[in-house]
Amino acid sequence: MADQAAQDEAVRLAAELIRIDTTNRGGGDARERPAAEYVAAELAEAGLDPVLLERTPGRANVVARIEGTDPAQPALLLHGHLDVVPAEPADWSVHPFSGEVRDGVLWGRGAVDMKNAVAVLVAVARGLARTGRRPARDVVLAFTADEEDSAADGAAFLAGRHAGLFDGCTEGLGESGAFTFHAAPGLRLYPVGAAERGTAWLKLTARGTAGHGSRPNSRNAVTALAGAVTRIGEHAWPARLIPTVRAALLAMADALGLDAASAERDPDGLLARLGPASVLVAPVLRNSANPTMLQAGYKVNVIPGEAVGYVDGRMLPGYEAEFEAAMDELTGPDVGWEYAHREVPLEAPLDAPLMAAMTSALLAEDPQSRIVPYCMAGGTDAKHFSRLGIAGYGFTPLALPPGYDYHAMFHGVDERIPVTALHFGVRVMDRLLTTAS
Ligand SMILES: [Zn+2]
Repeated sequence: MADQAAQDEAVRLAAELIRIDTTNRGGGDARERPAAEYVAAELAEAGLDPVLLERTPGRANVVARIEGTDPAQPALLLHGHLDVVPAEPADWSVHPFSGEVRDGVLWGRGAVDMKNAVAVLVAVARGLARTGRRPARDVVLAFTADEEDSAADGAAFLAGRHAGLFDGCTEGLGESGAFTFHAAPGLRLYPVGAAERGTAWLKLTARGTAGHGSRPNSRNAVTALAGAVTRIGEHAWPARLIPTVRAALLAMADALGLDAASAERDPDGLLARLGPASVLVAPVLRNSANPTMLQAGYKVNVIPGEAVGYVDGRMLPGYEAEFEAAMDELTGPDVGWEYAHREVPLEAPLDAPLMAAMTSALLAEDPQSRIVPYCMAGGTDAKHFSRLGIAGYGFTPLALPPGYDYHAMFHGVDERIPVTALHFGVRVMDRLLTTAS
């Protein structure tokens, strides 16, 4: 069992990490190294042997291994990112890099996304060392740079160039899941991430005939692009139940006492009856594609020969081919499309012993709650670690009070977390590591 010292230490570590500004502005403008050095020092003090790895100077990652007691078992990866998105101090009630604890709440950029989780993992590792306990499985801790941009200096670099550090890892726990979701009065869910949609950022190019704006033009690139973008934006994607989402719908319906017989036939109808919990499923019932950028022309009386648009597409695991066929159809003959950036969708087994162990660890701390699987609308570093054959789960346990809008905290103003949520995270992670099969 995690002692009080480990729980208190998570708060200290999270606050100190928040004070180390690791803002990732994208395009290479970030510096995680001070945070990586800080984490490495805390791990080294606990007797671990962390290594710092950089593809680009200043963009450091930290990896350390805790040796398990049972070498026959596969290793478990626990990962979290060190960078944060920008925060504008003028918008905040508390300075975003102050790491201030006020009335039992820790404030600052990264308090939820995700220096809290990094702090919990480091505190648990230090607590295990201090109390002379070891997990059964080898545990690989990875704290990454660059998650908030391309991961090229972070998880993608680690998986691509330092695969040996992850030898034996079959499963990974990372961002985000196992937070309290108040689904109805007295009904607490803990959604554990077991799937992620893939990323499909598309570039659309319409080519036509350039000419004078006063002349007839049957091959106007702007008109062609506008048509394609409108069709994509208005497309009604069919609902597709992947195993994780089907299980999520059924588990939530059961928790709410709803008849789930219609789940397969009419998932949208069941979704509508889930109440607040519907937000956990609504973004992942289907593929999606949202037009986001348009570029064409330079003068009102000149028809350009080319028009370009961008679309943020997201694909469910198993439905990539359907997504591509839909894009071929919707763009039509006059507009080409290509991937500007692509990341794989993921889905991990729901019947894994690890899933049962995560469920038990959460229920031990909150026995009246319900543990449900969950598919993330977007993506995390787990996509990169999946290249190493590591099945990714979202598990950053946090006990949150009613009214606390978890999702709004991500990249939001006044990001903050109750310190009791961190205490809970330490207890759950410690229990998971020391009792998991
Ligand atoms: Zn994050």
